[in-house]
Amino acid sequence: MIPFSPPRIDDLVIAEVVDALRSGWITTGPKVAKFEKMLADYCNISNVLCLNSNSAGMELMLRWFGVQAGDEVILPAYTYTATANVIVHCGAKPVMVDVNDDFNINVENIRKAITSRTKVIMPVDIAGFPCDYDEINSLVKEEAVRKMFSPNTQEQRALGRILVLSDAAHSIGAKYKGKRTGALTDITVFSFHAVKNLTTAEGGAVCLNLPEPFNCQELYKQLRTKSLHGQSKDALAKSQIGNWRYDVTEAGFKCNMTDILAAIGLVELPRYDSEMLARRKQIFDAYSAAFSQNSQFQVPVYETIIKTSSYHVYPLRIKGISEAQRDEIMKRIFEQEVCVNVHFIPLPMLSFYKNSGYCIDNYPVTYDNYSREISLPVYFDLTDEQVDTVIQTVIQAVTK
Ligand SMILES: *Cc1c(COP(=O)(O)O)cnc(C)c1O
Repeated sequence: MIPFSPPRIDDLVIAEVVDALRSGWITTGPKVAKFEKMLADYCNISNVLCLNSNSAGMELMLRWFGVQAGDEVILPAYTYTATANVIVHCGAKPVMVDVNDDFNINVENIRKAITSRTKVIMPVDIAGFPCDYDEINSLVKEEAVRKMFSPNTQEQRALGRILVLSDAAHSIGAKYKGKRTGALTDITVFSFHAVKNLTTAEGGAVCLNLPEPFNCQELYKQLRTKSLHGQSKDALAKSQIGNWRYDVTEAGFKCNMTDILAAIGLVELPRYDSEMLARRKQIFDAYSAAFSQNSQFQVPVYETIIKTSSYHVYPLRIKGISEAQRDEIMKRIFEQEVCVNVHFIPLPMLSFYKNSGYCIDNYPVTYDNYSREISLPVYFDLTDEQVDTVIQTVIQAVTK
């Protein structure tokens, strides 16, 4: 069987995790601090906060910005449910917009969706391909759009415009005009979930890249406290002799990353570009070389003059088929013991959002992308032979 996306776990990873276990310090401590520094250097920014998930990171930042009932947050209809759920948790309204043929949020649709209640835009780099960041970043700075912005909190007043919070769950290592994700928007949130390119089993990170007057170093400290119940000292600081007394400054959350998890990232990140991204690119290139020979297939765009994907998901589309035909093709592929997937079932098609009044008919490109899409296996240990097996299996399933 060819699985869809198993993690890369080798002796180096195991040794570093064992090192954390043997050190006697297993929760947030020196390994998390080192991983945060490494991530900041990788993204070429000054401050990164590691947490236990991308979802926790996105919610923490929406709450920090003061997003609440009565507010609107714009996101693509085509994403994983986490992006929308965190908006709902804050009591705000997810405003879903249709996407482009490249699966990413459409900037003109964002423009049409902006109202005086819009507080945040959450672009998602679907499959690892960066969104149109120059256009999104200039849109929120346009005079007319700024004028419409009505701040309710100190943070919103300080920014004076809509916040751009990108969901980069798929796109660590992707590049836009030479810069890596993390340095492209005000705030970027990565996921290190088990199926993601760079995993720590579960985990996430918030990249801080806010303009003046924000001080990202100060904000990092504030958010760290916010992620630890608002407690003035973390467990490591409290464990120092005589340093037991603490205070609580707000009713914070509990979503810190542990040193056991950071250990995996400490091994993965230094070899991420040269090994993980390099191998994933080879697999993408092999798929595209094979499928572009046949006019029934539509291969994804993952590299342009200004954008380079992180090669997270290979979203193949088949031309002129229905959703039911796609499902049938997937069944045939599974019968040959090749695991494939669909990224994603659009949010308006999920019961919770459907019952909240969203309707897929309003998102024709989203539906078209979804209904013809099959995500193929991509992972470090996938061999060239297995890549060939996947290609032959897919071609047979489609032509049969
Ligand atoms: C995986 C994923 C998330 C959630 O990441 P967690 O770390 O599991 O919280 C969010 N957005 C997208 C697009 C994802 O694929």
